[in-house]
Amino acid sequence: MAEVKRQPKVPGDVKCMFCDGTGKHQDETCIVCDGKGTVYVVDSTRKCQWCKGRGYLMPKIPCTTCGGTGYTRPVNKQRLF
Ligand SMILES: [Zn+2]
Ligand SMILES: [Zn+2]
Repeated sequence: MAEVKRQPKVPGDVKCMFCDGTGKHQDETCIVCDGKGTVYVVDSTRKCQWCKGRGYLMPKIPCTTCGGTGYTRPVNKQRLF
């Protein structure tokens, strides 16, 4: 019987879901991706289960679980919002 293994983490750049890759949110520089439109996350293959990959739970408030990326925690951020 083949054992179901957990997928290895694949760090990488993903499109910032909070600003939808535009780098702007409500006419201001996106606080999640710093205006880049992409974020380097610890696992680019897994979407955030908490916000279902949207990057936010309520408008203007980034998801605290994934830091607004829609995926996993950003690599370069120690603290989330
Ligand atoms: Zn962004
Ligand atoms: Zn999330």
